Amino acid sequence: MSINIAIDGPAGAGKSTIAREVAKKLGFIYVDTGALYRATALFVLQRNIDPYDSDRVNAVLPMADVELRYVGGEQMVYLCGENVSRVIRTPEVSKAASSISANPKVREMLFDLQQDIAYSNNVVMDGRDIATVILPDAQIKIFLTATAEERAARRYNELTEKGMKVSYEDVLEDVKARDYQDEHRAIAPLKQAADAVLVDTTGKNLQEATDLVLAVVSENMPL
Ligand code: C5P
Repeated sequence: MSINIAIDGPAGAGKSTIAREVAKKLGFIYVDTGALYRATALFVLQRNIDPYDSDRVNAVLPMADVELRYVGGEQMVYLCGENVSRVIRTPEVSKAASSISANPKVREMLFDLQQDIAYSNNVVMDGRDIATVILPDAQIKIFLTATAEERAARRYNELTEKGMKVSYEDVLEDVKARDYQDEHRAIAPLKQAADAVLVDTTGKNLQEATDLVLAVVSENMPL
């Protein structure tokens, strides 16, 4: 049986960096599920469809061929055969991903893809509903969080380092809007699973936060 580690939490809590590090340490596959929602959002944006217009989104969804591939252990997301791993990282795609992720048909489309990877591999999977919906039987469940201000500051630094021109206020507003959308949607809302361990990374640097998560993982790792 494969070992599954689920890490959920809001945007900017450090999930992807920490999950990637934990996966590397354990020799597991790291699965960034946000990339699937982002690729689907990009598909919708490319067709000039309003992400909230679920009728139009649902009409084109069967044509959205979203796929994960692993190149040298690194996850790549492909949309209709094209590697979109970089272009899905813009604030515009973030916002659209949060909008379409409230659409049940979108979640249904991405459900099997996520479960199939976890059932046949040891994974560290990060997202919003991994412990609650996708992998309720995961052996280790972690809910990673930090204050909105701290998460916005981290995202701001990340984006400006990549050369993107954004303001801290806009990033904070975006973080808060996404939190609200993710926590209040009817289907698979962002919430801590009853049996997940809460890890708050406010005031912690990346190394400290990673060490906290690694401690939870080693304490709960099945023998
Ligand atoms: O994690 P990331 O910021 O890349 O996710 C983009 C958006 O995709 C999130 O704001 C959330 O709305 C959605 N998402 C989700 N369920 C997941 C992963 C991401 O709804 N498991």
